[in-house]
Amino acid sequence: MAKVLKVKYGSFIIVSTITTDIIKEACSIHKTNPPASAALGRALTGLVLLSNAFSYTNVRRLVMQFITSGEISEITTETDMKQNYRAFIRNPNPNYEIKDKKLPVSDVVGGGLIYFYRYFENEIYQSISEIVSGEIAEDIAYFLYSSEQLPCAVSLGVLVDVDGSIKNSGGILLYARPGTSESELLDIEKRIKSIGPITKLIEEESDEYDLISNITKSWNFINQTYAYYKCWCNESSIKDAISFIPKEEMLKEFELNNKIEVVCRYCRKSYIFNKFQIVQIYENLSS
Ligand SMILES: [Zn+2]
Repeated sequence: MAKVLKVKYGSFIIVSTITTDIIKEACSIHKTNPPASAALGRALTGLVLLSNAFSYTNVRRLVMQFITSGEISEITTETDMKQNYRAFIRNPNPNYEIKDKKLPVSDVVGGGLIYFYRYFENEIYQSISEIVSGEIAEDIAYFLYSSEQLPCAVSLGVLVDVDGSIKNSGGILLYARPGTSESELLDIEKRIKSIGPITKLIEEESDEYDLISNITKSWNFINQTYAYYKCWCNESSIKDAISFIPKEEMLKEFELNNKIEVVCRYCRKSYIFNKFQIVQIYENLSS
């Protein structure tokens, strides 16, 4: 569980969260190595902040997907807009070398594109933007600026311990509402730069309120919610996914293994189907 705090300061909206628990869970499901943990943790924390910062009226599902040229290849983060979050990383074990005591996150991410999907009842809106640095926070800020034309700042951090476990993780997202003056922007930029790495603040026992108070003490509370790492897959959603695979392919797979096993890519839960169930999926399609 991660607390998410949203406040207003002048013409700015600020959201902060400490995601240590949910990032620990995501990294343990996907068995990520240190730089993959940092990349996955930053991306998922980014989505927690984003989905709470803006009002996505009528959006049923929000997906932020990084398709990258680096070894991790893909990170997909999703929310059902009910504060449940899930994530997937294609390669959880990229090769890496520690440089200047830092995890080479931008090396394992590389370049590529961010795809942002908003699922409505009957339609899907897609926005695309470039991965400019591979550090994730800067990429999300660039995406928001290029797609929403909103000046914003994103700070994300995942502190990975020497044994590879997650020590802490969190982030702050701030954006200026239309009409914000140049001097207000310059002032907030200065304040954000002065706070230093988020993980250091969390290590010093800062909570979500302290993270914001490091930027300004004169904010007004908007709301507080809790985010969870919780996959919403079930037998019916897995059957839906199977129905997109040609029937012949599924039956061939069945002949080889005498069962069909489908593992959810977000939570690693395994679903096993017998031949009768598989045939029924396709029969329901044609009826
Ligand atoms: Zn699942």
